[in-house]
Amino acid sequence: MRETVFIGFGSNVGDRLDFCDRAVTLLGLLPHSQLLGVSMLYETEPVNDHAQPGDGWFLNGVVQIETDITPKSLLDILREIERSLGRDEDHRSGPRTIDLDILFYGQQTIDEPDLVVPHPRVHHRRFVLMPLSELDPLFIHPVHQRTISQLLAEAKKQPEVRLLFPQPSTRYGSRPACSQPPGP
Ligand code: ADP
Ligand code: MG
Repeated sequence: MRETVFIGFGSNVGDRLDFCDRAVTLLGLLPHSQLLGVSMLYETEPVNDHAQPGDGWFLNGVVQIETDITPKSLLDILREIERSLGRDEDHRSGPRTIDLDILFYGQQTIDEPDLVVPHPRVHHRRFVLMPLSELDPLFIHPVHQRTISQLLAEAKKQPEVRLLFPQPSTRYGSRPACSQPPGP
């Protein structure tokens, strides 16, 4: 059955913008799927380190798709995309060229050893709640039963998350499925 799925992406090493852009491009090419929206990009301070913006800072965003791909197959595909973009399997928690997470799979809840949906940390991570709120602020978290807007209002303000400005004028910014920047 076709479901609306939100996938979070993040990169904190190398050409972060290019890794995000490539990931979004590949997610737009999934079979039996349609790309519904792409958020703007957000920069997040690494949790244990007060580095300057740029190096070490995470670049994050969210993609919304509609798909017939099952959650398990989607996870396999995301791992494959991570691998193809050079993520180092042996140092998974270290610097990452790209991290792809299934945030929500419709209203389904999944609790298996290698797949937990909704993603267990979605509800307090502003770097996912902010891009999610651009795409669908009224989406209801199937476990917490609160909208994205409500969760965002309740989330801790630290670490700092800021909109990447200016947004890139690359393929990323010109993609027709991209959500529009908020008005003035
Ligand atoms: P994190 O994204 O939490 O920082 P990793 O990307 O290193 O951590 O963790 C990857 C593992 O987490 C994957 O191999 C996958 O099996 C598991 N996992 C569990 N739930 C999810 C999910 N909703 N989306 C993506 N990976 C998940
Ligand atoms: Mg991950």
